[in-house]
Amino acid sequence: MAGGAPGAQGPCPTVPAPGCERSPDTEDNTLSPRSATRMPGEMDKPLISRHLVDSDGSLTEALSQGPKVGILGSGDFARSLATRLVGSGFGVVVGSRNPKRTAGLFPAAAQVTFQAEAVSSPEVIFVAVFREHYTSLCGLSDQLAGKILVDVSNPTEQQHLQHRQSNAEYLASLFPACTVVKAFNVISAWTLQAGPRDGNRQVPICSDQLEAKRSVSEMVRAMGFTPVDMGSLASAREVEAMPLRLLPGWKVPTLLALGLFICFYAYNFTRDVLQPYVQEGRNKFYKLPVSVVNTTLPCVAYVLLSLVYLPGVLAAALQLHRGTKYQRFPDWLDHWLQHRKQIGLLSFFCASLHALYSFCLPLLRSTRYDVVNLAIKQVLANKSHLWVEEEVWRMEIYLSLGVLALGTLSLLAVTSLPSIANSLNWREFSFFQSTLGFVALVLSTLHTLTYGWTRAFEESRYKFYLPPTFTLTLLVPCVVILAKGLFLLPCFRRRLAKIRRGWEKDGTVKFMLPVDHVLAEKTSHV
Ligand code: NAP
Repeated sequence: MAGGAPGAQGPCPTVPAPGCERSPDTEDNTLSPRSATRMPGEMDKPLISRHLVDSDGSLTEALSQGPKVGILGSGDFARSLATRLVGSGFGVVVGSRNPKRTAGLFPAAAQVTFQAEAVSSPEVIFVAVFREHYTSLCGLSDQLAGKILVDVSNPTEQQHLQHRQSNAEYLASLFPACTVVKAFNVISAWTLQAGPRDGNRQVPICSDQLEAKRSVSEMVRAMGFTPVDMGSLASAREVEAMPLRLLPGWKVPTLLALGLFICFYAYNFTRDVLQPYVQEGRNKFYKLPVSVVNTTLPCVAYVLLSLVYLPGVLAAALQLHRGTKYQRFPDWLDHWLQHRKQIGLLSFFCASLHALYSFCLPLLRSTRYDVVNLAIKQVLANKSHLWVEEEVWRMEIYLSLGVLALGTLSLLAVTSLPSIANSLNWREFSFFQSTLGFVALVLSTLHTLTYGWTRAFEESRYKFYLPPTFTLTLLVPCVVILAKGLFLLPCFRRRLAKIRRGWEKDGTVKFMLPVDHVLAEKTSHV
């Protein structure tokens, strides 16, 4: 297989592969700075017996009694790995095709030598080379027989789609006499270098050999990371796909938010900019960057928030209709339910932007001119005091409700973060996400209604016969609030509570709720 096409199956031949032959200067093959004075035969001994990695990553001296670990490859990952292993008390021997060139890049406590030399004594060897170069290691198959190979590689997106076999399985097929363990591919060279405190701690591990998996898991723990058992080597493809993911779960909610933004922006543009231009000849295109955006953002935030609670309402209606919870929801509803957190966070994001934009409104030149023009009009009309009581009240209530809604939404956003959510029990989590979430929706509805006030009934507000934007946004949230109110009626509430505790209309599971059904409703429905 040496020199064969990458990805081809079958074990390595026994002939040394190019790059694996020992070069003439192999006799002086330990190229650590201290090797110059070394006698032949001393190579198996640890080069230095004391080492430690300071918090800044620099090496100082400390006791070294840990087992020896091999690394094949001398690139970025190999260097970070060697530093972390040395800092964790392991002896490290690095195998390079050109140790002379790379030795200076490694911590002084690591031994840098030729590949064949490096793999001779350690039982665990990290393969820190790319998949396409695995075949160049075939010349080492005899020395590697019976050892544990840790595959740290990540495929590119193209390679992942192209090869059905994972990199780790491919490595195992090239070295059938070795045990391959997949690990560390989700940890970047930077995280390894900086230490686990600054990055992701979890290291998914998989292998067909339990003992090998346990040894590598112990190493992972010793290095300050948390091993996560992913099962057999067949899971390696899944593990290798992890770093390729780009914000999983966010694609559909982001597209939804973008779609809503575009629709509402176009609608507001037509009403606030196009209509005055076409029908009155007034140029209001200056409103495009701030004003139209700021009228669009709350619409998106509000509709998104209602879309967080709509699937729950639909699911409850479906359960009531079917009289059981043991039938699968349609796929679209299932996906929708799973994306509620992302939709809620996007709603919070838009609402926060709306608040920021609103704070900036007094800074706009157009606002200042409007204020001055109004003052001049007042003077010309000989009015000394402008005070519309109703407008004052409307604005005070409107602002207060908006602030309360945003505050409640921020609580929702904070409690949906994994670190906080994990510290809450089911009832606390349900209180924040369900009860407070619904309160946020009601507050936002009141905020929108006070903004609207009597405007929905004024003819002048129907530009191009289009109703004001806020009337459109009220549609879905009002349906959700009404449906939620309906489900609070005793006839629906009790039936829903029974269904969620396993009762079935036509099935065998029939029972009465405990007398204190309020208590029953407070328990988890998951
Ligand atoms: P790199 O800097 O390019 O190093 C790759 C090393 O492979 C080279 O330094 C080379 O060392 C060695 N090698 C052995 N045989 C080779 C051959 N025939 N042709 C070319 N090079 C050969 O890459 P890296 O970033 O360290 O990545 C190494 C592995 O770690 C990859 O599989 C990668 O997917 C994985 N990984 C990297 C990171 C990261 O953050 N960089 C994170 C997770 C996983 P010698 O010249 O000394 O032989």
